[in-house]
Amino acid sequence: MELRLLLGDQLNASHSWFRECHPDVIYLMAELRQETDYCLHHRQKVLAFFAAMRSFAKALTHAGHKVCYLTLDETRAWPNLPALLSAMLDTHHAGAFAWQEPDEWRLDKQLDDWTATLPIPSKRVSSEHFLTPRDGWQRLPHSRMEYFYRALRRQFKVLLDEQGQPLGGRWNFDADNRARLPASVALPEPLCFANDVQEIDAMLTRHGVTTLGRADASALPWPITRQQSRALLSHFLCHCLPQFGRYQDALSERGWSLFHSRLAFSLNSKMISPLEVIRATESHWQRNQDTITLAQVEGFIRQILGWREFVRAYYWEKMPEVLSDNALAATRPLPGFFWTGETKMACLRHAITQSLENSYAHHIQRLMVTGNFALLAGIAPAEVDRWYLGIYVDAIEWVQLPNTRGMSQFADGGVLASKPYASSGAYLARMGDHCKGCHYDVKKREEAEACPFNALYWHFLARQRERLGANPRLALPYANWDGQSAQQQAATLARAEQWLREIETL
Ligand SMILES: Cc1cc2nc3c(=O)[nH]c(=O)nc-3n(C[C@H](O)[C@H](O)[C@H](O)COP(=O)(O)OP(=O)(O)OC[C@H]3O[C@@H](n4cnc5c(N)ncnc54)[C@H](O)[C@@H]3O)c2cc1C
Repeated sequence: MELRLLLGDQLNASHSWFRECHPDVIYLMAELRQETDYCLHHRQKVLAFFAAMRSFAKALTHAGHKVCYLTLDETRAWPNLPALLSAMLDTHHAGAFAWQEPDEWRLDKQLDDWTATLPIPSKRVSSEHFLTPRDGWQRLPHSRMEYFYRALRRQFKVLLDEQGQPLGGRWNFDADNRARLPASVALPEPLCFANDVQEIDAMLTRHGVTTLGRADASALPWPITRQQSRALLSHFLCHCLPQFGRYQDALSERGWSLFHSRLAFSLNSKMISPLEVIRATESHWQRNQDTITLAQVEGFIRQILGWREFVRAYYWEKMPEVLSDNALAATRPLPGFFWTGETKMACLRHAITQSLENSYAHHIQRLMVTGNFALLAGIAPAEVDRWYLGIYVDAIEWVQLPNTRGMSQFADGGVLASKPYASSGAYLARMGDHCKGCHYDVKKREEAEACPFNALYWHFLARQRERLGANPRLALPYANWDGQSAQQQAATLARAEQWLREIETL
């Protein structure tokens, strides 16, 4: 008998393991306290993973595979994965062990260490999900995501003409994709599933699993099967793709996912594959070129073929050292309002409250609202990581960490991003509609009623001058700062110092 382990984010029904049913193979899937407790997770995230695992186990069994699925009730005796695996080898009289390459360094190491001591043969296989190998950083041009992405466009022949040139004559349509969302543009209703996960919810309560955020366990909105993931993809293609790129960077009180796909959970749990999403997007566009422009399609595909693969390659290149990166020497604790949403800053309140309610925020909320605030305020990267890794349904370390530490907090000193994603309130006012109802005034800087993003932005640049002053992409803001009177600079810095002292009351 060969025991094959399937982790909670390895729900890939197209894996070659499942092409045939082998009577001498048993698949092990287990709900473990190790996984519910390594971080404080959003309740919807734990519910969604366990529900998706259970559906996957059911589908495998239905297809004729032998599956051993253990709930939290049944894994009580084994505190961690190695203990469980050792016990299961005995239970199933297994003479061999196999596992799919984990995406998280922590699990990878745990399994490598454990299998190194095994007296029986063991084999690690690919998860057959990603388009690039783990050492993609070494194999592909990586000085900027753009070059990595172009190489993959060529390799997989995505959005290319017959001569191998990019369709539309450009690789990247980002410049066309930075529109503010007008009030006249109607938003699509997000497709939410009403999965009943009350049994899992009761089990979490019974076991005293601590979670954050809110969940209606009678109607979990996230897809928990491949079929639901495909339905979410179809919904995106029909209702969101036509405006995806154009409003990709927009912020709005009117909705919580705007034109975004909300596919990250399906992708990261591997219920759906990146290539499948890319091909479906291309072919949907080919059939609907009269209503969907290339800029929308390229903008979306770049996120999956470009950013997603790029951050994964970065993760495996930089782990575990990146865990202690703190290039900007940020040390402040995360303000309490990140856990409650109780702040007078309308943009932060909206982003945090919807994260607590839906376990979701779109990219610009993560990067330019919560991430931007943490960067300007100098929050310790480990605290920022802990929040992002816990709160989002799609948060798994291989994708969260590069985005948080690298892209958002510039803690790697500029490997992932060529400049910090820092902005004053002016950017938030330009891209969103939060400012008009906000307690603070985005047009003011030093006054008590001024938007805190303003003074904090200049304070950030001024205090990081030694580290960032030579960055050519920051030449303009530094020249602007130098052109301000000493009196104005002093007033701005004093206001920012006050905001930082009173950060909990903002
Ligand atoms: C601070 C911070 C933390 C983040 N943490 C996570 C995380 O834990 N898990 C996660 O999947 N993404 C993370 N991202 C990236 C991105 O914000 C999310 O993938 C996206 O918001 C998920 O929503 P969506 O599925 O609607 O994405 P869409 O906007 O519809 O984009 C489509 C897909 O592209 C991929 N994608 C887009 N941007 C990125 C990116 N920067 N890196 C990797 N993939 C990307 C995702 O798979 C996403 O589903 C983070 C970004 C930031 C700035």
